[in-house]
Amino acid sequence: MHTISIIIPAYNEEDNISLIYESIQKEFTHLSYHFEICFINDASTDRTLEEMKRLAAATQKVKFISFSRNFGKEAAMLAGLQHARGQAVIIMDADLQHPPSLIPQLLKGYEEGFDQVIARRNRHGEPFIKRVLCSAYYKVINHIVDVKLEDGMGDFRLLSKKAVQAVLSLNEGQRFSKGLFSWIGMNHKVIHYNNVVRKNGETKWSFSKLLNYGFDGFISFNNRPLRLCFYAGAMILCLALIYSIITFVQILNSGIDVPGYFTIITAVLILGGIQLVSLGIIGEYVGRIYYETKKRPPYLIQETNFMNGAQYEKNKPRVYQIRHNRRNQYF
Ligand code: UDP
Ligand code: MG
Repeated sequence: MHTISIIIPAYNEEDNISLIYESIQKEFTHLSYHFEICFINDASTDRTLEEMKRLAAATQKVKFISFSRNFGKEAAMLAGLQHARGQAVIIMDADLQHPPSLIPQLLKGYEEGFDQVIARRNRHGEPFIKRVLCSAYYKVINHIVDVKLEDGMGDFRLLSKKAVQAVLSLNEGQRFSKGLFSWIGMNHKVIHYNNVVRKNGETKWSFSKLLNYGFDGFISFNNRPLRLCFYAGAMILCLALIYSIITFVQILNSGIDVPGYFTIITAVLILGGIQLVSLGIIGEYVGRIYYETKKRPPYLIQETNFMNGAQYEKNKPRVYQIRHNRRNQYF
């Protein structure tokens, strides 16, 4: 019988840990699969880790990894993918917004031979303004990046072992998983579900975090934004040249015209703005190169009930050896 690993990143989700475990267990009683749950505690400040440990003490099916500090959901998902041992993995949130009742449908897709089975949510119950902004964002971003990003298709998905290996073979430290899942391609199936509102705890995504995440999407996949800066610059240069020629001809014909303050100030401000935006975009790319050259591990483990460090060294996935060389993340 195949084992399915369920990866669940959790940050301050004390009320949800046992709820999600119970719902998953209920689903698997009707299924012909074994399952293991791999909780990743992203340095929660509440009793999330205690809840994970309590479950782990009660059943072998529960594994946990606890980070030394908050490294973010992307790092948590990476840790889960690197440690999962199942023939397929399902990534889901701890807050029950990714309904465990969809697990049978995800597994059906897996049985049909799909490497990715993606659960796509609609935006029922979300504020109107958020829906409009998000749909505009996806329209724009799909013209800029060269992977296809779809609204409602997030991290809630099943990945076959092949797909997991493909995702792990991508070595970048600053990960934008939504795009990486799309980048690996492979045959996929989409299932639809209604958006679920969070019951316990609160979202960790403030407006500014969402904005940053959105910006990450823009510049994580290619250098097209840099090229846009170049084209914008080139266009403005052409316009400026045309304008100077016209003004020069006018001066030759009718002498120097004193008024011109408005034209000058507008040109200076617009050009200054464009230059600053372009510099900012270039700076973002340089910043990323800076972080990538440091080759820092994407997360550090404080505590885990996965096999001990020595055993892990022997069995660790190849990609891990490439990324972190001989650095042992276990204390
Ligand atoms: N999460 C995490 N680390 C963080 C923030 C969030 O592991 O720094 C987890 C969180 O516990 C949840 C999932 O990522 O399981 C999604 O977070 P959240 O529900 O806050 O996002 P939303 O559903 O509002 O987009
Ligand atoms: Mg949520």
